[in-house]
Amino acid sequence: MDATADKTNLLGMPQGELERFFAALDEKPFRARQLMQWIYQRGVTDFDAMTDLSKKLRERLAAEAEIRLPVVESRHDSADGTVKWLFESGWGQAVETVFIPEPARGTLCISSQVGCALDCAFCATGAQGFNRNLDAAEIIGQVFHAIHELPRRDNGEPAVTNIVFMGMGEPLANYKNVVPVLELLLSDWAYGLSRRRVTVSTSGIVPHIDKLGDDCNVSLAVSLHAPNDELRDELVPINKLHPIDVLLESCWRYAAKHSNRFITFEYVMLRDVNDSLEHADELAALLKGRPAKINLIPFNPFDGNAFRRSSADTIRAFQDRLRRHDLVATTRKTRGDDIDAACGQLAGKVSDRVRVRLGEKTMSDKRAKAATA
Ligand code: SAH
Ligand code: SF4
Repeated sequence: MDATADKTNLLGMPQGELERFFAALDEKPFRARQLMQWIYQRGVTDFDAMTDLSKKLRERLAAEAEIRLPVVESRHDSADGTVKWLFESGWGQAVETVFIPEPARGTLCISSQVGCALDCAFCATGAQGFNRNLDAAEIIGQVFHAIHELPRRDNGEPAVTNIVFMGMGEPLANYKNVVPVLELLLSDWAYGLSRRRVTVSTSGIVPHIDKLGDDCNVSLAVSLHAPNDELRDELVPINKLHPIDVLLESCWRYAAKHSNRFITFEYVMLRDVNDSLEHADELAALLKGRPAKINLIPFNPFDGNAFRRSSADTIRAFQDRLRRHDLVATTRKTRGDDIDAACGQLAGKVSDRVRVRLGEKTMSDKRAKAATA
């Protein structure tokens, strides 16, 4: 058995919990803030190096606690500068984290679950099935690792300036572990990122969108992908539980809580499935006049999936049509596809344990076959 298994892992603990931990050691609450600075700002995991803590406290911490990082299994570098890591997740499984460098920012795309139970028809993670939630240490550990492995930016800032929960898993289905991570990403004692630079992407778990609006108002991206329930039921099965009108109402509530900050709607472009100009008009009717922007994502293919990417001309025409409706619409650039690091290609290594079936899966075969005929 692991010799450290009974030690408390302080990585990923939010400030309040850390203060309670120190109180139990008869220490003052500010110890929590000191420890957070050592871990997240200086990248120190050895208690003995934390020189503003007394020797006695350092020894006590070493005896009772640890700062245990997730273990990197491999790193892959793309020709376009994108980097992908696989982190060990137990039982031979692995989750993926992707760094996307751009001139103005460095975005880290992190995973929240080993697999995903929501089974969207076009997603490699969903196709793998679901094994378990990552804990807060395993999630924040991805950020810790990337920041300390990547060279700083030319202006001296850490390489990672933005975080998106767009890796493996549905973050709002792992709410309990994701919220402490968000707290640490925003905390001035940890990563100190602004709310604009931290984005949770969700397929639409409505009760948790409302809760997130109260608990932690980070930027929100919603995977819409279809402009009507009939199509969305097939592409994003959670739609059967939380249909579009209910989902959008929760989005507008979320935006209203935070001075109507824009919500990003992600829309994967699938050839002959959801990419016609009529679909664009229908989508515009849903979002017009609302605090919404649309991010079109060219579909990224993966083995065993029959969907195809819309042509560049179709994507351009779709985007132009949305703009003619006065909507803000952009198209996501595909990055890292030579190392299978593009959106939706993150399969990791997952042993499917529980697959939540929200009714019969009809899409992947029926409509995809029609689209490829
Ligand atoms: N579970 C969350 C976040 C992870 S997926 C969610 O669904 O929002 C991040 C984004 O990639 C989502 O918008 C998702 O729908 C999209 N995506 C999934 N598979 C894709 C694929 N094969 N090609 C392009 N985008 C994909
Ligand atoms: Fe899960 Fe998101 Fe993939 Fe859907 S798109 S299966 S919610 S990771």
